[in-house]
Amino acid sequence: MPLKGTIVVNENLCKACELCVVACPQHVISLNKEIITPRGYHPAHLAEEGCTGCGTCALVCPEAAITVYREKRLIQGQEA
Ligand code: SF4
Ligand code: SF4
Repeated sequence: MPLKGTIVVNENLCKACELCVVACPQHVISLNKEIITPRGYHPAHLAEEGCTGCGTCALVCPEAAITVYREKRLIQGQEA
């Protein structure tokens, strides 16, 4: 079973550059057209299930707007 993760986007920092949208290997990030931030952008959000918590989106974000959370799983006593 793949690891599960989730992200939280700081909407005050996101400037909708879409680098995270392009970089996500699971293709689960999109811009949220239903929200406009105080700076006038549609912010990125986790649009569907399938995030593995790989952290790629946070690495490419030039605004450091993404925090990634990944589940911890124990396999034979070792952290996966
Ligand atoms: S942590 Fe990885 S899988 Fe999850 S949204 Fe970011 S790039 Fe996609
Ligand atoms: S990479 Fe960062 S600034 Fe660009 S859309 Fe994603 S969260 Fe927003």
